[in-house]
Amino acid sequence: MGIAVGIDLGTTNSAVSVVRPTGKPEVLKNKEGDSITPSVVLFQSFGGPDEPLVGEQAKRQAAAFPDDIVQHVKRYMGDPSWRFDSSSGAQYSAEEVSAIILKRLKEDAEIALGEEVTDAVITVPAYFDDARRTATKQAGQIAALNVLRVLNEPTAAALSYGIDADANGTVLVYDLGGGTFDVTILKIAGTEFEVIATDGDRNLGGFDFDNALMSYLNEELKKQGAPDALEDVALMASLREKAEFAKKALSTVPKTNVQFSANDQHYRVPLTREEFNEVTQSLMVRTQELVADVLEASKLTWDDIDKVLLVGGSTRMPAVRELVEQMSGKSPELDVNPDEAVALGAAIQATLEGDIEVSTEQVGSKATVESFLGGPVHISDVTSQALGVILIEADGVTEFNQVMIERNTKVPAKTELKTKTAYDRQTAVHVKVTQGDERDPQNVTIVGEGQLEIPVYPKGSPLRVSYEYDVDQTVVVEVHDLTANKSLGTIKIERVANLGEGELGEMEQKIGGMQIN
Ligand code: ADP
Ligand code: MG
Repeated sequence: MGIAVGIDLGTTNSAVSVVRPTGKPEVLKNKEGDSITPSVVLFQSFGGPDEPLVGEQAKRQAAAFPDDIVQHVKRYMGDPSWRFDSSSGAQYSAEEVSAIILKRLKEDAEIALGEEVTDAVITVPAYFDDARRTATKQAGQIAALNVLRVLNEPTAAALSYGIDADANGTVLVYDLGGGTFDVTILKIAGTEFEVIATDGDRNLGGFDFDNALMSYLNEELKKQGAPDALEDVALMASLREKAEFAKKALSTVPKTNVQFSANDQHYRVPLTREEFNEVTQSLMVRTQELVADVLEASKLTWDDIDKVLLVGGSTRMPAVRELVEQMSGKSPELDVNPDEAVALGAAIQATLEGDIEVSTEQVGSKATVESFLGGPVHISDVTSQALGVILIEADGVTEFNQVMIERNTKVPAKTELKTKTAYDRQTAVHVKVTQGDERDPQNVTIVGEGQLEIPVYPKGSPLRVSYEYDVDQTVVVEVHDLTANKSLGTIKIERVANLGEGELGEMEQKIGGMQIN
């Protein structure tokens, strides 16, 4: 086996990390010399098949080639209807676009290490559901990576934080990235990491702050006689660039000027941090509400929270720090790198999961990590989604959703349902797996359906169906034959939102053969 790395496959930016022979994780530089690689793909071809360009170079060309660029593909993971049509006529699923990014990350890591990278732990937002987690693993598979497991981003951040600070206590991780917001409360005691509650919004991030600022700037520009930039693809891409630039500037300076050109005319909009805070205030309030929800779900108060970790590029906005201080009465921890913490934690996990026994020149072994951390690591995470089954009411017709495993239950989690064969010569058990708390099947997501053959028994023979979230929070359903007292095996769930084996194989070939730059 080659090297196992940790990958933060972000909505906006990605990073790769390994544990060094000292036992300490380190982010690897990409071939441009940067620690983070924008999760941006430009589909370009030169008369032949697509040769996608990934990262900073692609991001820089976003405004020039708005139709050939894919950004924020993570928002579409697990959405089977999403496709990108490239100019060359090819189509790509969200898993394939993510695989293209992963392939570039893998190749860059191999250059940095001078060794083959075969395995990875990939991080996902804590509230990602089964479909999105499965899609992430499939993206890894398409990129020819053996995905050791998917790890929750806040847990990864806490893991990297726990290694070199006096980290013991109850910690709140506030992760505001480019496309998503995630808030998690965990307890750290030595090398034990216990997640207590988690929530998030997969459509709330720096991108939305950019959008809000763009609307404001567009109105100001129109007052100066500029054309409506939101009506024109190229102008909009340019305004987006200016807005993000101004937003970042206002993280360090109190005011800035936004320069904008359209139809050979030049415009200038002065902008203060106060104005920016005002146009984005409703977004900050949404993060505040989610933090309050998680605190409530954890049955804790701010007095119980010892530390607040800020993760994600958007936490550089001074308004975030102010909000956290105002809500918690505490100042956030300073020794967390908001861009690297997640990848560093993923590398620790990858080393613990991988089977490298001894340190090589480049990377450390499981033993080095454990001795660095001061003992074996135990992580206990919680489910972000309730898991259920569709049952039939006593009337024999109406379907309802029965929750089997509630939200915020420790994973791996397992519950059992005793049932009986419904008729003589029944040959199979059929289940519909759901995600969501509500009783009305209309208000929950059907993860998939599955069927398992059973021996032929008389009607009323006892069976036990167990529902399980494994450590990755993917769903496993197993049927136990209580007559013979043995497991009949796990039900292969046909996941409605994910790729089938055949499709996966084809995609592996397609992406594997691609020149990616
Ligand atoms: P993700 O987890 O979604 O991949 P990141 O954690 O890399 O995202 O954060 C990217 C976001 O952080 C972008 O929206 C970017 O504009 C924002 N960001 C980066 N630096 C700053 C800064 N100095 N001030 C404000 N926002 C920033
Ligand atoms: Mg992130």
